[in-house]
Amino acid sequence: MDFGFSEDQKIFRDSLRDFLEKEIVPIADEKEKIGEPATREDAIDIAKRFKKIGLSPDIEDIGGFASDLSTVGLVAEELGRVSPSIALLMGYSLSIPAVLQFLPDGMDLKERLLPKMKRSEIVATYSLTEPEAGSDSRALKTTAVLDGDEYVINGSKTWASNGPISNLALLVAKVESGEQEMFFIDRDQSPYDSSELGHLGLKFGSTGELFLEDCRVPAENTLTNIIGGIMSGGKIEELTEDLEMPSDSHVMDLLGMMNPVSLVLAFLRIGMAFMATGISQACLEASVKYSKERVAFGKPIGKFQLIQNMLFKIATITETSRLLGYKALDLAANGSPEFRTASSMAKAYSCKEVVDAASYAIEIHGGNGLSDELPIERYFRDARMMSIPDGTTNMNTLVVGRELLGPGYSAYV
Ligand SMILES: Cc1cc2nc3c(=O)[nH]c(=O)nc-3n(C[C@H](O)[C@H](O)[C@H](O)COP(=O)(O)OP(=O)(O)OC[C@H]3O[C@@H](n4cnc5c(N)ncnc54)[C@H](O)[C@@H]3O)c2cc1C
Repeated sequence: MDFGFSEDQKIFRDSLRDFLEKEIVPIADEKEKIGEPATREDAIDIAKRFKKIGLSPDIEDIGGFASDLSTVGLVAEELGRVSPSIALLMGYSLSIPAVLQFLPDGMDLKERLLPKMKRSEIVATYSLTEPEAGSDSRALKTTAVLDGDEYVINGSKTWASNGPISNLALLVAKVESGEQEMFFIDRDQSPYDSSELGHLGLKFGSTGELFLEDCRVPAENTLTNIIGGIMSGGKIEELTEDLEMPSDSHVMDLLGMMNPVSLVLAFLRIGMAFMATGISQACLEASVKYSKERVAFGKPIGKFQLIQNMLFKIATITETSRLLGYKALDLAANGSPEFRTASSMAKAYSCKEVVDAASYAIEIHGGNGLSDELPIERYFRDARMMSIPDGTTNMNTLVVGRELLGPGYSAYV
């Protein structure tokens, strides 16, 4: 068992931190204070900055980096540490457009969007939730009906991160058989309307509703068709090679083992778990620093045992969250379907406990913890957002319960 990063990963983490401090923290601090959601221009500006350090959906930039899933966890944590809003903005725009480069040459979606992807100009959203279908995603009402060589999609979506500013959507709808299918929707070609939703934290995040009215999408744009193309014709080998995957990596095996919707959800959950770990880490760093600086009763407050107890709790939450996250990623890298349960455990734990971590950080900072002059109150608001997206704490708890008890014990199906 190896709990450490390699030397290369440490160098990468240091340069990422340096980049985030210089280029991203000033934007995050300013925009979170203003409290308005990002525009598409903001999102593209940020994506182009990330491209400069090799973080883009383009395999030519990201190749070797994406080969090790633990580095993906590292990036999600580091982004969560400085700005969960920007982490969400980037998470979808890094991952969803990456698929474009594995489509067969000549496929319309690839021809239309690949140049934009290369320029980091795609703002992507993943949209499953509907007003009457959140945890119970079987209740989806959005339909996709085949008409010639196009699907006609009708329905409303809600709480789509990046949705209002997106120009590419990976959207879930029910086809005529009643099965769920995911569609890649190029907004310029297949327009959909949207509106923003306000929320407690993640203020710079753009989250909203999508409205699809007779939205016509090429039939070949389904995820099933695209994964089928990747699985056949040597594409999987090409992908492994381009991503410089080590020969003992079995992550691609998951494509054949889990249905695409479950697989996407498991990776989204793990992304949220690492973002929450990043917030806990930020709370820990700020609290340790303040405990040494702030003097009360003639001593730094860090000398008080009750303060040390709170530091212990924040540190333990942070460390446990991190370990659960890397355990899940290790299972994914080994192509183990246990990845699904492990990602639920990591998400449920980290995204719930981070609220306690942020609350202790406020307590340690006293009145300053509640002031908007310091980022601690923002950590708390952002932390409280974590338990809901990509499966609530309850739902992820039930995924683990079902796994522990075996067939026949599911509390929700
Ligand atoms: C900031 C933010 C970003 C989001 N981003 C996205 C996104 O990008 N794409 C997307 O598709 N969705 C997104 N979502 C939506 C999110 O995934 C849903 O809000 C979530 O799945 C919960 O659904 P709901 O809000 O309808 O709550 P409900 O499903 O109505 O749940 C309400 C409460 O009931 C509980 N509950 C429900 N069923 C059970 C059960 N069987 N047993 C026990 N408890 C139960 C839930 O745990 C919850 O506490 C986002 C949400 C937020 C807040």
